[in-house]
Order: sequence, then structure tokens, then C-alpha cells
Amino acid sequence: VRVRAGGETRDYDVIVRRGLLAELPSLLAERVRVHRWAVIADETVAGLYGFALADRLSGRGAPPLLLTFPAGEEHKSRESWVRLTDALLDAGCGRDTGILAFGGGVTGDLAGFVAATFLRGVPVVQVPTSLVAMIDSSVGGKTGVDTPGGKNLVGAFHPPRLVAVDPEATRTLPRRERAQGLVEAFKHGAILDAVYFDTLENDVARLLDGDPLATEPAVLRSVELKASVVTQDEREGDYRQILNFGHTIGHALEAASAYRLSHGGAVAIGMVAEARLGERLGVTKKGTSARLAAAMEALGLESRVPPGTDVEAVLAFLGSDKKRREGRVRFVLLGNLGSVDPGEGWTRAVKLDEVGPLLD
Ligand SMILES: [Zn+2]
Repeated sequence: VRVRAGGETRDYDVIVRRGLLAELPSLLAERVRVHRWAVIADETVAGLYGFALADRLSGRGAPPLLLTFPAGEEHKSRESWVRLTDALLDAGCGRDTGILAFGGGVTGDLAGFVAATFLRGVPVVQVPTSLVAMIDSSVGGKTGVDTPGGKNLVGAFHPPRLVAVDPEATRTLPRRERAQGLVEAFKHGAILDAVYFDTLENDVARLLDGDPLATEPAVLRSVELKASVVTQDEREGDYRQILNFGHTIGHALEAASAYRLSHGGAVAIGMVAEARLGERLGVTKKGTSARLAAAMEALGLESRVPPGTDVEAVLAFLGSDKKRREGRVRFVLLGNLGSVDPGEGWTRAVKLDEVGPLLD
């Protein structure tokens, strides 16, 4: 899948193929001209595959570096960025170094940000190993780290040279992790492709089991859909906002739970709530929220705000969101399933008091 990132030199391909990891060294040698690779992975992924990968990359140019950081979202931090960039400097890496971001969404964002800033930018290749990274975060060129003030507050836009996706890598994931990725897949179907949504509904058991024959086409379709959006609007502009469906309420729920609620779990509830909001406003076709709720429940996720949630705190986070303008919050709303209401610039401004009742 070709992603147009603004000019010949910045366009890149996403290759989705089972068994691709084994071909990675020759693929890289063919496609990306660098003298040395620095593989960045968290300690878990490095333990599983990283050393083998670094080994297979040697023998081409300078010996590869393997740099690791502790697994977990809390390590997507400026401190990790400092350690990784210092390690590159200590190893004498120059502008002919390529960064290979090998792992889930945290690794992609962190290693991508290291690549965006090291010597004012060196090439990065994204090799996502989690379903959510394959389906969502590895495509689009966003990189960054979290700060105590919030997620992704410091970052850069740095499109990869190549994204190499091997759906086989998801087989070792826990089921819960696959469910997280499938939330974003359902989102792609809900905003852009009703037929894909149907397919996901039908295949949900096989997808949760990690059946590669179901996983490969789903990853490919999600990548195609995401690429079609970021290609039209590689910078964060109006159209790209459709990818935020479910995320306005989702991010507020995540923040209000102090991130005890997972991203996928929060977005699952957020999509259902935002579909209900659209139905109330007469924008979204009736019955859409019920269908989304059933899909999220099939993934083993909650479709309603968990009891005991501090609704006031959720509303406060919504009100402080960057999407807020003049006391209203802007939402991406569905039309029919598989399409987004064009609104004004693909969002609609909704008064906060319209949102409160949806969170009960
Ligand atoms: Zn998301």
C-alpha cells in the first residue's frame, strides 16, 4: 500500500505479508540505503526476536546496534528519548544510520521520535509487532513521547521510509492485546467501509484467536483505509480528524481513569457513546450504536461507561480537550455505518451538557 506523504521523496510503502520478518534484512538492503541500522525495541520484544533480528542484519554495512528500553507506556518518555539518543551518540552513529522501530505502538512513537530528532532527522523503518500498531499507529508519520501533562504532547511529524508488517507476529500476542487492535479495525469499518465492518463482525472469533488467514486481510484492509485518509491529508488537518471517531470521549475516559482503562477499552466505550450522541442529534442512523456495542462486546470489551466512573471528571477532561472551542466540544459523528457526517470540517460542535447523559 502506497502512502503519499507529500512529494516523491517522502512517499512510502506499507508492505503486509505473512512471513515478512524473515525477509526483512534483504528487504531493507533493497529499499533503504543506510550504512548502519539501530534497532530500537522494548526489552520484551528484544528478548523474543530482537537479538535474532539484529544478528540477521549484520554482515551488511556496519554491525547493527540493538537499543532497548523497559516495556510499558510509562517509558514512552523524554527520559527514554534521552537515553536512546545518547546511546546513538556514544556509538558514533552518523547521518547514515537508520532506525528500525521494532515493536508495538509505544516503540513506534518513541523510536520514531528518536529518528525525527537525531541529527535533525534520520530514516526510520517501522516494523510493528502488535495488532494495534499494525492496524493503526505505524501508518501516518506521527511520533512523540508522553509528559506528566498528558500523552503525545511532545513530538514530531516524521513519515517512515517503509512500514513492514508481518501478521504472523500477532500469533504470540495475548487475546486481550488482539482485542485492542480490533477496536481500531472496527473504527476503520465504521467510518469508511460498512462491508469491512460486516467482515469483522463475521470473523471476530477467528480474529480474536489470531487465525492468520483472517488476520492478514483485516490488517491489509485497515492499512488501506488508514493510508487513504493520511494520503489525502498527511498533516493533521480536517479530513484526518475522522480517525478520531470514538477518541474524543475515549481519551477523556482514559485520562479520568488515570490510564487504568486501556486505550482500546476506552475507545470501545467512546465509539458507542459517540454513535449514541449522533443518533440523538439525528445525524447518525438509528441502530448504529447498538451494532457497535454488540461488536465491542464480542471482543470481550465493555460498551458502556463502567459503574463508579467519575462522570464530572470525564466531562472536565472533555472540556479541556484541544478540540474545544467556545464552550462546545467538536465530535466526529457517523452518518450511516461506514461513513462520517461531513459536518463543518468533518466534525460538529456539541454543547457539553448534551454529552453528560450519554456517560451514564
Ligand atoms: Zn486509538
